[in-house]
Amino acid sequence: MGTGSRYGRKIRNETQRLSTQYKNFHKCPYCNAVGMKRVFQGVWRCKYCGVETSGASYAPPTIRRLRKLQQQAGDTHD
Ligand SMILES: [Zn+2]
Repeated sequence: MGTGSRYGRKIRNETQRLSTQYKNFHKCPYCNAVGMKRVFQGVWRCKYCGVETSGASYAPPTIRRLRKLQQQAGDTHD
């Protein structure tokens, strides 16, 4: 009767590792402060400079990706 508890513990560890990964603050590509937090699925906000951007679900976007997004936005604007 030890199989059930062993299985449950493994699953709990796995979800815990995932949740801490996206709940922790990440480094902001704009101000370099570790204040980037996921506020929504794929949306990140920095608590220091207030920048809000979309990126990957579990990791903030890189500065290169942000520049590309800004360029695309500038092209479609006007
Ligand atoms: Zn910032």
